[in-house]
Amino acid sequence: MYKFRQGDWQTPSNIVAQTFICWNCNKEIASEKAYRSYDSSARDYLSFIYLCPFCNAPIIIDDNKKEALLPLPGKEIEKLPENIKVVYSEIRKCMQSGCFNGAIMLMRKLIMHIAVEEGDVDGKKFEQYIDFLCSNGIVPKKSKNKADSVRKLGNSTNHEVENRTLEEAKNCFEFIELLLRVNYEFADIMETKNE
Ligand SMILES: [Zn+2]
Repeated sequence: MYKFRQGDWQTPSNIVAQTFICWNCNKEIASEKAYRSYDSSARDYLSFIYLCPFCNAPIIIDDNKKEALLPLPGKEIEKLPENIKVVYSEIRKCMQSGCFNGAIMLMRKLIMHIAVEEGDVDGKKFEQYIDFLCSNGIVPKKSKNKADSVRKLGNSTNHEVENRTLEEAKNCFEFIELLLRVNYEFADIMETKNE
């Protein structure tokens, strides 16, 4: 999370409250403090910078009422190894900024990394890593449809540039979240219960 708490924003306007999920603290908020731009020919306010009442972050809304940064997708996952935690965090930030190609490249890398960590060998094709994860119980049996929707992301090679869509990135992100929860967060909970 970024820090904005230290100071007070100077003289924002009090306006009709808008509800958001804050991109920074991920809380559902209603903000009535904002800066805004005025279009004198249309006699209307166009873009806004709302201030989050929890974390004091600026929430930027453009003339088309589009948020410049979306809420961070996914949840914090407990017990992730440091190297995976860093990549997972970068994936979430790519998704938040609408950088779906970058998000998918990192997600592919993470899927391969998990497969190798679980005992598969280096240098295989992406689809083969997905197969490995499915046939070794690392992907839960009832979640294989999710795995199939991700498998086709292996079709492009490194030197091809394709424009990935939000839908593809979301599918892959759900799969990544599932893998990380099952293999790290949930695995640790089970161990604790068995003690
Ligand atoms: Zn906030």
